[in-house]
Amino acid sequence: MIYLDNNATTPVDPAVLDAMLPFLRGRHENPSSAYRGARAVRAALDEARACVARLLSATPEEIVFTSGGTEADNAVIESARALSWPSRRRLVIGATEHPAVMEPALRWEQEGGSVTRVPVGRDGVIDLAAFEQAVAQPDVALASIMWANNETGALAPMHDVVRIAHAAGVLIHTDAVQAVGKVGIDLASVPVDYVSLSGHKIHAPKGVGALFVSRRVRFRPWMLGGGQEHGRRSGTENVPGIIGLGVAAELMQRQLADGTTARVAALRDAFEKQVLAALPGAFCTTNTADTRVRGSGQGGPGVVDGGSTRALNAAGARRSGATSSFCLPGVDAAGMLILLDAEGVCCSAGSACHAGAVHPSPVLEAMGLDAAHAASTLRFSFSRFNTEAEAHAAAASVIAAAGKLRALKDGDEGPVVVSAPD
Ligand code: PLP
Repeated sequence: MIYLDNNATTPVDPAVLDAMLPFLRGRHENPSSAYRGARAVRAALDEARACVARLLSATPEEIVFTSGGTEADNAVIESARALSWPSRRRLVIGATEHPAVMEPALRWEQEGGSVTRVPVGRDGVIDLAAFEQAVAQPDVALASIMWANNETGALAPMHDVVRIAHAAGVLIHTDAVQAVGKVGIDLASVPVDYVSLSGHKIHAPKGVGALFVSRRVRFRPWMLGGGQEHGRRSGTENVPGIIGLGVAAELMQRQLADGTTARVAALRDAFEKQVLAALPGAFCTTNTADTRVRGSGQGGPGVVDGGSTRALNAAGARRSGATSSFCLPGVDAAGMLILLDAEGVCCSAGSACHAGAVHPSPVLEAMGLDAAHAASTLRFSFSRFNTEAEAHAAAASVIAAAGKLRALKDGDEGPVVVSAPD
């Protein structure tokens, strides 16, 4: 199997599993208990907290463990509602946020608040001028702009986002679930107020994550009970998961420093180059400023657009190095998933959170892709466990499968949209 669906979830790193096992076998004590064994578990939790804090250049006191990215996103938005209503009832979010932000925003509106959705450009990058206008409104309680998009890897210019939000006196949250470990996050120099992250996107297990709450800002807990996490998230801690998250964070910090993250990006780039060279009209849905989405399906590397030749796979794209979102015009992504699955290649079409849906991905729609192009889009996402040989073999499988589908296409009734896990 060639696993290229790491934005959906990642394999648990063996070192993470090894660190967790003692806490599943013998060290079962509740970290809130008073005896020696429990104090040792508490110390292990504190060490995990310090590891997560180091990855973000934060302090351990600013880390609150959660059940994952969804809970962290929900908790921040609910906190803003509780702290700001009724005087400030507006939420500002990006147009391509994950459902873990989109759905709470919908509820925010249903309960009488207002939501401003800031558009993205065709490259999926947040429109900063529109963001500036949005946060300038007098009633903004919170802005939430994702650091890296789960479907395209598009990166927000977080430095500018934070500067603009703070200049307007607005608190800023970022869903960094797909950014952590893929790009350096230094909260000392990019002073975001709240940050969400998830364990299972960084080789820790599912069901654990964290919320960074800057010591400069207030937070009103959502989960009430025994007062764990300094009262910010009650509930007996998921000790094995948190221990795993701590080790995973440490490994991610190492991977950023030792060139592994760059190696993953190089694999992704080689994969894209191979596919783009072989499939006429194929293009990456997120790329440099030169990227253009073409309604006719005739776009592609070297295509003349508006009188100039545009390179669609140029270096320096504003996206994380782990994600490749491809449009293969005229090729049905649903069919591709089936053919690639038969070849042992795991990837996604759109976002897995809407599995079974028959509408285009809202992210691609927000970027201006029409339904036909969105239905021809596949996402491949890489991790440190992928190899050069895998990237090469997967590209060959993509090329072969797309060739088959294009050959069969005459008389076809058109692409069907499917969604896959994110
Ligand atoms: N935010 C983003 C950008 C994601 O990709 C995901 C993963 O699906 C989530 C939030 C939700 O994280 P979790 O699965 O840990 O709840």
